[in-house]
Amino acid sequence: MHIADILKRDSVTASFEFFPPRNDAGWDSLFHVIADFERLQPSFVSVTYGAAGSTRARTHELVVRLKTQTKLDPIPHLTCANHTCGDIENILTQYAQCGVSNILALRGDAPQAGQTASDFPHAIDLVRFIRKFNERGIHPDPRGFGIGVAGFPEGHPDTPNTLLQMDHLRAKVDAGADYICSQLFFDNAAFFDWQERCQLAGIQIPVMAGIMPVTSIAGLKRMADLAGGTKFPAKLLRAVQRCGDDAASVERVGIHWATEQCMALLDKGVRGIHLYTLNKSDATRAIFQNLGVKTAADLR
Ligand SMILES: Cc1cc2nc3c(=O)[nH]c(=O)nc-3n(C[C@H](O)[C@H](O)[C@H](O)COP(=O)(O)OP(=O)(O)OC[C@H]3O[C@@H](n4cnc5c(N)ncnc54)[C@H](O)[C@@H]3O)c2cc1C
Repeated sequence: MHIADILKRDSVTASFEFFPPRNDAGWDSLFHVIADFERLQPSFVSVTYGAAGSTRARTHELVVRLKTQTKLDPIPHLTCANHTCGDIENILTQYAQCGVSNILALRGDAPQAGQTASDFPHAIDLVRFIRKFNERGIHPDPRGFGIGVAGFPEGHPDTPNTLLQMDHLRAKVDAGADYICSQLFFDNAAFFDWQERCQLAGIQIPVMAGIMPVTSIAGLKRMADLAGGTKFPAKLLRAVQRCGDDAASVERVGIHWATEQCMALLDKGVRGIHLYTLNKSDATRAIFQNLGVKTAADLR
C-alpha cells in the first residue's frame, strides 16, 4: 500500500524493522517467527540495506519474500552513498516491477577517503531522484513510490549545528518526503522536543518514533555504536546494571522501558511507532501485550 493510503487508514501506525539475514540459519529463524509478526498486523514493515549496498541482493530477496509469502507490507531502505544513478535506477525499476509501494531514502555511511565519489552526496539527492523516477510512469501506481526519510531527535553526528540540521531535514521534506522515521531513542523528552522543533521548522508530514527495546548488554553496546549520539538515560543504565549477569532480567527491563516509552508516546498523540525488532518477535509481542492490545489495529 502507498504510504499515503496507510496514513489515511491508520491514525497511529505501528511498524517493525527487519534486517536481511546473513545465512541460512538466519533466514530460517526469521521465517520461523514471521507468523508472530503477521498476527500483530503492523501497518508496514521495513527492511534495512547494508552500508554502501553490502546487502543489496539480500535486502531485495527479503523484501520480495515478505511481499509474496506473507501478509506483511515491506518498505525497503535504500542508501545512496557509493551508488551511481544507474545503480539506483536499476534497484527502483526492480522494486517497481515487484509492486513495492514505498522506499525509505537514506544516505548511509558517508563515503571514506579513497571510495568512489557518489552520484548522491546526501539523502535529499535520492529523494529528488525518486521523485523524478515517479514522474516517468514506470511504477504501476501513478503516484509512484511513497518516500520516507530519516530524522535524528538527538542530532546527527555529522552536523553538530542543530539549526542547520533541521534545515537539512526540512529540505528533504520540501524535496518530496511523505513521512519521517526517527532514529532510535530512549529519552522521550528528547523526541518530544525535536518533534516540536520540527513543527517550528514548518514540517507537517507524519513523524514516526523509532523504539528499540534493550534485550541484552551486548545489544545495548551495539546500539551505542550504531546510533551514535543517542543518549542512554542513567535510570535505564542503573536498571540494566542491577540485573547483573541475569540475561532474562535485562530483557524484561528493556521491554518494560520500551513499553513505558510507547505508552507515553501514544498518550501524547504520536503518529507512529516503529519497533526495531532485530528479527526476533519476543520483545515486540511482549510490548504489544503490555500495551493491552492484540494487534496494531487496536492502537488506532
Ligand atoms: C530510521 C533509520 C533507518 C536507517 N536505515 C539504514 C539502513 O538501512 N542502512 C544504512 O546503511 N543506514 C541506515 N540508517 C543510518 C543512516 O544512513 C545514517 O545515519 C546516515 O549517516 C544519515 O542518513 P540520512 O539519510 O539522514 O542522510 P542525510 O539526510 O544526507 O544527512 C546526513 C548528514 O548530512 C547532513 N546534510 C544533509 N544535507 C546536507 C547538505 N545539503 N549539505 C551539508 N550537509 C547536509 C545532515 O545534517 C546529516 O548530518 C538509518 C537511520 C535511520 C534514522
